[in-house]
Amino acid sequence: MRRQQRTPPDPTKLAALDDAFKRMRHEGLLARQRFMCCSSCAGHAMATRAAELVDRGTAKDGIKGCVFYHRQDADELDDHGFVHLAYGPLETEKHGTVGFPAVEIGQLVTRILGEVGLAFEWDGSPDTRILVSCR
Ligand SMILES: [Zn+2]
Repeated sequence: MRRQQRTPPDPTKLAALDDAFKRMRHEGLLARQRFMCCSSCAGHAMATRAAELVDRGTAKDGIKGCVFYHRQDADELDDHGFVHLAYGPLETEKHGTVGFPAVEIGQLVTRILGEVGLAFEWDGSPDTRILVSCR
């Protein structure tokens, strides 16, 4: 198998991705880039954060869910110019599930990606991560 050629991301697309993450935060998502080492650590940290916010008085329905990519995903972005976003509600021990169903979060995230002009691929399934092109 041939190795994929290195294609670094376009800086203007990375700026659009920053903008998208800002908009996601304004919409009530916990949204982080280059967050933690892997999906399970990131998911756990997001759930812990959501529980803290609810403890400190944030309304449970004020948190719509989370979206992130972790550091392994960031390597893929730096080398190949695309990134896989993970998203979903937060499963907390103390407050149960916080956030909307994953499919609704996916729809919100892809709407925002469209607004900032980034190309993405998503089949609409809550089990599929959203692939964003920054080439
Ligand atoms: Zn990890």
